[in-house]
Amino acid sequence: MIAIRVYRATLKTVSYLSITAKVGRFYSAVPADDMPQIERSHDYNFDLAVLGGGSGGLACAKEAAKHGAKVVVFDFVQPTAQKTTWGIGGTCLNVGCIPKKLMHTASIYGELMEDAQNYGWDVTRNSHDWGKMVGNIQNHIKGQNWKIRVDLREKNVTYYNEYATFVDKHTVKSVNKRGAERTVTADKFVLAMGGRPNYPDVPGASDFAITSDDIFSLKYHPGKTLCVGASYISLECAGFLNGIGVDTTVLVRSILLRGFDSDCSEKIGGYMEQSGVKFIRPGLPKKIECIKEATADTAPELRVTYTHNGEEKSDIYNTVLFAIGRKPLTDKINPESIGLKYDPNGKIPVNEEELTNVDNVYAIGDLLNAPELTPLAIQSGRLLAKRLYAGSKILTDYVNVPTTVFTPLEYGSVGLSEDQAIAKYGEDNIEVYHTLHTPTEQVVREPSELDGYNYAKLVVNIADNECILGLHYLGPNAGEITGGFGLGLIMGATKTDFDRLVGIHPTCSEVFTTMNITKRSGNSIDVEDC
Ligand code: FAD
Ligand code: NDP
Repeated sequence: MIAIRVYRATLKTVSYLSITAKVGRFYSAVPADDMPQIERSHDYNFDLAVLGGGSGGLACAKEAAKHGAKVVVFDFVQPTAQKTTWGIGGTCLNVGCIPKKLMHTASIYGELMEDAQNYGWDVTRNSHDWGKMVGNIQNHIKGQNWKIRVDLREKNVTYYNEYATFVDKHTVKSVNKRGAERTVTADKFVLAMGGRPNYPDVPGASDFAITSDDIFSLKYHPGKTLCVGASYISLECAGFLNGIGVDTTVLVRSILLRGFDSDCSEKIGGYMEQSGVKFIRPGLPKKIECIKEATADTAPELRVTYTHNGEEKSDIYNTVLFAIGRKPLTDKINPESIGLKYDPNGKIPVNEEELTNVDNVYAIGDLLNAPELTPLAIQSGRLLAKRLYAGSKILTDYVNVPTTVFTPLEYGSVGLSEDQAIAKYGEDNIEVYHTLHTPTEQVVREPSELDGYNYAKLVVNIADNECILGLHYLGPNAGEITGGFGLGLIMGATKTDFDRLVGIHPTCSEVFTTMNITKRSGNSIDVEDC
């Protein structure tokens, strides 16, 4: 491959036309004359090559192009064990946050329909059409896939729907779905390959079970479903499946939502159980056998053998969904060819500038030992591009990252859990303020076992002027509430600051402005009416 660059001087900028002599193909993105250009002292095809067109990779590529870098993005989805595949945009858009939030919304609509009757509406909650929901969600995703491709073209980012692997530290070889190969050179590389769901070493698992990579486009109604795992993905999937009327069981190896506040995690489990989700705890899958094959529109019948409290049991399910963690496939990009260091779990160690041990190779997003969250992947990609091509010095802050678990009882959290705070600062230095609350919009509900789960907690450091270490919220719209309060934590807000804040009435967020019961006091946290 021969790359020839013709530089064109303009009054404002110096732009170039990159003509690559390669059988039957020219590079697609040619910077316009008015695009900013960077100074370059290399002769590679591109300034920057990004491996992975998900949340982090796309943000980084577009930001770099905005500052004048010549950028290429490789994005290719290897099909799942069940042959599911999807378009550009990565996990979040195609098989993560977006379809998950939409299915969560579908299930919340079920609850709201019951409320609607109490508000006087003539609606019934008879049945749910899985095919219609999946069809509409997939249409939205395909529209977004198309918009991303247009956006990349408009922003002068070259996109190859090809799987890239390293040849040397400035060269990758890529291959498309028909097996055609291409070689591309670049000055710098950003690794943004994300991760893929794990399968356990259990007979029949990858033959018959699915993962979150399959559930959102499943052609048939999932039927009786077993979700294996007890963290974000398993509990969120179990929550929305139960909410739309699916017979749902969760197989829990140990605790719910490891790393989160244990009071909140247990309340989520309790709420789900009261709502109809069954829990097998502690339990582990042992074997999955197919009794009846799936057809185009019906789920299979699977016999699952598992242990429960050490005793072996079995049951028949139509769908088994493994949500037992995810792993970056770093070993698949030929890391040895560039001497790239990575951990056994596929995660890539980087310095505070997201630089790997290879001096022109950076890594962002789910590849890092950091929370696996889209906004963090986007932030790390965007700030990296600004540092590389716009003279910025701003680093990504991996502390106090807000997050929300979209279980039926939503859970928003930022900062430390009570247990983490005690472990770090000692029990005597930690005060916990907490309370139950009642969302006003839910007062039309008949009294039920689901009352008493909406909860809020502030974890503060007594030794540091009651600085807020952790904020936890269980209730509706948890993401909206936690995202806003996250700013308070990164600005070092104290309990006094929260007390100074005047709440908005009647909302759920105001609960954080009036908290005065400490956990230590043992006083009742029952809700007082306003
Ligand atoms: P990805 O988005 O995974 O993108 C990586 C891309 O690189 C993929 O398209 C992959 O196919 C491609 N690729 C890999 N190797 C190569 C290669 N060698 N060559 C070319 N292409 C390659 N986060 C939230 O913040 N909120 C949520 O509500 C949320 N919900 C989630 C729900 C589920 C079910 C899952 C699975 C995840 C969820 N996440 C959520 C996490 C979020 O999706 C990820 O943190 C985010 O997508 C990570 O972005 P990334 O850019 O690192 O990787
Ligand atoms: P996690 O790594 O968070 O949790 C894995 C779960 O599976 C744990 O409950 C773990 O149990 C269990 N487990 C692990 N191995 C086995 C096994 N062999 N058999 C049975 N159970 C097992 O993974 P997830 O897949 O839930 O999520 C991955 C990441 O994606 C999350 O950490 C999150 O950052 C991101 N995400 C974000 C969302 C959001 O923002 N709302 C939603 C979904 C995902 P144990 O505790 O015993 O180890």
